[in-house]
Amino acid sequence: MQTAVIEMIHKFREILFPGYFNRARLDPANLSYHIGQTVAELFDMLAEQISRGIRHECFKYDLECTDCRERGYRHALSLLESVPEMQNILAPSDIQIRTHDTSKSSARSLSTT
Ligand SMILES: [Zn+2]
Repeated sequence: MQTAVIEMIHKFREILFPGYFNRARLDPANLSYHIGQTVAELFDMLAEQISRGIRHECFKYDLECTDCRERGYRHALSLLESVPEMQNILAPSDIQIRTHDTSKSSARSLSTT
């Protein structure tokens, strides 16, 4: 559980600050693919963890299962849908995202607009 939470935080950071915490070389060509893959992985992890939390409630109160898996997906989706808003708060669109270029150990700017 703790490992999963740490991994989810790392994936959130990857989405909110693409390339900043990652040593992999990102350029405009592979950036959206990388982010798409990270979002898909994060969605699965979130849905799984949320489902487990909800299922725990079912067991705790001896209730009939109320579509824990389905609800996990719904909550995970609504959380990921708030990412653009988080991005706007953290980095307004007029601020450029920097990608780390390990081969030249210099930062290159990448416009987000
Ligand atoms: Zn349940």
